Amino acid sequence: MAPQKTVGILGGGQLGRMLTHPAALLGIPLLILDSGSYTPAKQTLLPPENHDGHLDGPFTSEPHIRELAKKCDILTVEIEHVNADVLEAVEKEGLCEVQPSPSTIRLIQDKYQQKKYLSEKGVPVSPFGELPPNPTESDFKAVTDKLGLPVMLKAKTLAYDGRGNSPLKSTSSEDIQRSLDFLGDRPLYAEGWCSFVKEVAVMVVRNKEGQVKSYDAVETIHRESILRVCLAPLRGEKSLNARARQLAESAVGHLTGAGIFGVEMFLMADGSLLLNEIAPRPHNSGHHTIEACHTSQFENHLRAILSLPLGSTDLIVPSAAMINILGASSSMEPIEIMRDNALTVSGATVHLYGKKESRKARKMGHITLTAQSDADLTENLRTILFAQPDADA
Ligand code: ATP
Ligand code: MG
Ligand code: MG
Repeated sequence: MAPQKTVGILGGGQLGRMLTHPAALLGIPLLILDSGSYTPAKQTLLPPENHDGHLDGPFTSEPHIRELAKKCDILTVEIEHVNADVLEAVEKEGLCEVQPSPSTIRLIQDKYQQKKYLSEKGVPVSPFGELPPNPTESDFKAVTDKLGLPVMLKAKTLAYDGRGNSPLKSTSSEDIQRSLDFLGDRPLYAEGWCSFVKEVAVMVVRNKEGQVKSYDAVETIHRESILRVCLAPLRGEKSLNARARQLAESAVGHLTGAGIFGVEMFLMADGSLLLNEIAPRPHNSGHHTIEACHTSQFENHLRAILSLPLGSTDLIVPSAAMINILGASSSMEPIEIMRDNALTVSGATVHLYGKKESRKARKMGHITLTAQSDADLTENLRTILFAQPDADA
């Protein structure tokens, strides 16, 4: 047997935490880089006080990334907002392998560049237009003349959970100012409004040898740009699942590097699919794969980057759902109520991420529900959602 490789993860949140579970099962040593000694991912490994391998520092810090690289055989990410330049240097200097490739991470970090690149490659995307730095009212008028109204204004960088999105309904000074106040002084672009019928996501895994496997497509339900519920498999006309998987696999084919990718799409009224964005890492719309599929997205990510055989992506249940547990306020009580309620529901599995502080709309955990039929799933889903705090309250 080849000597076990140590994997370093940039980011120690819930995605890192869920990577630690299959790593433990497969005997893969993992080291985490993130600020704090007790982040969600660091909690599930050896007790932090006995573990001198994790690094306490920002995943954007050059010295910390270099130190991690020295201790590991391969670096990967659980968040795309890392320091791609340092990752590229570390790889070029032969200090450590990086997967997926730093150039993919860099491209995806900038949502405008990502969209431009994919559209140039012929991937169908929502229409979009660039805005200059410090855009004026006439810049907004020019872009909305092209795209129509409303548009979704998006921060090009450092966006997640809708925190870089602001719908713009008109080019009145008040509406523009409201969006700018929300988005801050980040570089922006605009997307034409997609009146989608459903949102769809597909997880795709590719190993270093070029083997590609996708999971069944899922329906994702967002409110205020944050994922709330995910339903697997996607229901609808017969060819839809295959078309979504094919689009996702071909889009990922334009990116380099190994690992798992989350591909978000819009299903339009005419049946066409438009790509929204790609995440170069495990993704919230693949959490159900832990209980509902032969091999989870997290395990397949590790297998892909370590050249281990990829596992089956097939569903092992007819119907599954994932419900995010979002903070409603600083109180932990609604989270505990949701957990305790879910424990009474057959087929429900609770994941809490070990975050010490709750905040409005913060992802605190999720519940996976598996069922033998959509009817059973719907009934149990209702029981779970009934206990959900209103994150917008
Ligand atoms: P994530 O947490 O998935 O990284 P994000 O902050 O990068 O999200 P997007 O994926 O761009 O943001 O958008 C979040 C949600 O906002 C989408 O899933 C969708 O519900 C809505 N949305 C995004 N773009 C558009 C659009 N062009 N038209 C209509 N709705 C949109
Ligand atoms: Mg995103
Ligand atoms: Mg998204």
